[in-house]
Amino acid sequence: MFEYPCPDCFTTNALHDADCRFEGTERARIERAYVDVLSTILAETADGRISEADLRDRLSDRWGPLYDAVLGRLTAHHYLRETAEGLEPVAADTRMDEQEPTAPSLGLLWERGSVPGCHDNAIFALISWHELHGFDWAQTRERMLEWFDRTGTWARGGFEESSPAAVLSNKRHVHEKGYGWKEKAEMAASVVESSL
Ligand SMILES: [Zn+2]
Repeated sequence: MFEYPCPDCFTTNALHDADCRFEGTERARIERAYVDVLSTILAETADGRISEADLRDRLSDRWGPLYDAVLGRLTAHHYLRETAEGLEPVAADTRMDEQEPTAPSLGLLWERGSVPGCHDNAIFALISWHELHGFDWAQTRERMLEWFDRTGTWARGGFEESSPAAVLSNKRHVHEKGYGWKEKAEMAASVVESSL
């Protein structure tokens, strides 16, 4: 179930990360933003599509940075996509098929996560893959934060940093330099395969 996380730090409770752009924003406001965006788009989808400009217009009395971030998150995670006619919701099974690493070693890391001992290689490889597939840093970061949570990687421990966001900050140079992912993905996948 989609839990309306903070679009910046991904918390689903009242405690935001210290450096979150929406620190101090109440849960109810965040949820409201998701509901406003999704319900406005869904209402239009019955007989057409709504452009991003029309969406902003429709919600102009409340549109702001939070709404921008919510829309960005919904798009980065393929809950919504932009077509020539406008924004449209994406069915769950389509979403899972789209834009996921599928090469054997990287697919395994994306699906099952990483384990202590190969975090560096796994995260390096996944960030490189995103960079090569045209995800900008904000999108890469969002998807990687989701990955930490979904795969249980953060829960397995083994990081010196205090949060997934801090791990990613320390790995941002990988995205900027555009290394290849293959070698490091294979090294990490063999560790994951023998331990999970
Ligand atoms: Zn936050």
